[in-house]
Amino acid sequence: MSRRLLLGIALLAAACQGAPPTIVPSADIPASSPATGGSPAASPEASRASWPTSDDLILVGRIVTMADPAEVEALLIVEGRVAAMGSRAEIEPLAGPDTKVVELGSNVAYPGFIDAHAHWIGDREHYGGGSAQDVIGEVVRRGWTSIGELWVDEERLAELEGLDAAGELTTRVDAYLALSDPEGRKLGDWYSARTPGRVSEHLRVQGLKIHFDNGWGTRVFWEPDEIAATVDRAHRAGWQIAIHTYGTRSLDMVLDAIDGALEGGPNTLHHRIEHALQVTDEQLARMVDLGVVVVIHPDAAASDWALYDDFVGRLGDQPALIMRWRDFFDAGLHVASADDAPWVFPDLKLTDDVGRPYDQIAGGMDGRGRVNPETPPWALDQLVTPDQVLASLTTDAAYALNDEANRGHLAPGTYADITILSRDVTLGKPDEIRATQVIATIVAGQASFCADPGFCP
Ligand SMILES: [Zn+2]
Repeated sequence: MSRRLLLGIALLAAACQGAPPTIVPSADIPASSPATGGSPAASPEASRASWPTSDDLILVGRIVTMADPAEVEALLIVEGRVAAMGSRAEIEPLAGPDTKVVELGSNVAYPGFIDAHAHWIGDREHYGGGSAQDVIGEVVRRGWTSIGELWVDEERLAELEGLDAAGELTTRVDAYLALSDPEGRKLGDWYSARTPGRVSEHLRVQGLKIHFDNGWGTRVFWEPDEIAATVDRAHRAGWQIAIHTYGTRSLDMVLDAIDGALEGGPNTLHHRIEHALQVTDEQLARMVDLGVVVVIHPDAAASDWALYDDFVGRLGDQPALIMRWRDFFDAGLHVASADDAPWVFPDLKLTDDVGRPYDQIAGGMDGRGRVNPETPPWALDQLVTPDQVLASLTTDAAYALNDEANRGHLAPGTYADITILSRDVTLGKPDEIRATQVIATIVAGQASFCADPGFCP
């Protein structure tokens, strides 16, 4: 147990000893706009209740935990972590004199969403993202409380550390250090000067990124012995490895390398396969045996990308092996859904309707995109349920970052990373889910984004 949590529990105990609770009257609760309406900020009845400035906070309303119990009515945050959960009657008496209470109204709170594979900060020049602070603002506005930056070289790592030191990382960032680039150039073992792990509350140097093949899986950049030795060396030094692997030819070599490094042991570092666009049945069975994590991109924009003739054709024109989302889930793999920003944004443009967690849910349900407004017949058997994608944005996305004890679900002791949405994103049609509004993004108990200044100024 951490010192921070012990302190939280001590504060909780103090709060239990009869200090009068400060409760926002429910008459002041702001209701969100319906999903089809405009910005939640438009509501003239919005509450004047102020967002807590103290560390202690109680949320009351519908709170999805992605744990047991699946939902709770109230949750207490102390010092940036969840201190207690339960019914309103159980939690409200725990309020101390400085504890603020936020009523969710018709909104729904989820464990903070985790974008396990993206390039929001590092590749921002490719989508006109402005400053690092600007793009972090776009990240939290979309409801992401954590992002994996999947290609970080020395220059980018220095920038992330600078942002962290300046307190500018209002989303958590997990950096994956680059061992090779998308053209296959090797960058050497520069990572060995570092130790994997936490830099601060908001920044981890978590793993290593390898580009094993090109975007179509037609060019393989590594020799079998070379990748086996590289993976083995990194594994022994305690680094999680995330390997960009598209085609079946590459996947065999990558699975051999992971298999060799694990030597029959469990995949405790959660080595990952990124994209996994083309997978045979035999390879899928091996992925299950090895316990690898697979990272996919089910949002509509990604479907466009995966379905271009270029990709399907170049990968050998075997649609049955392409984009096996449902097979991954059904096989019991840990699946993370991620947006790979900005590389799957249409025309590399960040618009308000891309890069949001619930786009992954809607896209997984209907597989539609700009170039395929109707779901392609051969993809029909790979569509997934909203609950499956929700898990791949929370619990399994946290697993993909090898930090599932702290993130991806809500329970006493976890980070108080919470995304509040205007609706239940597991109900309704895909386009209704796409019309969801992010109400607030809370990281370590603090609001990093707030849609409605009346709700949390
Ligand atoms: Zn990527």
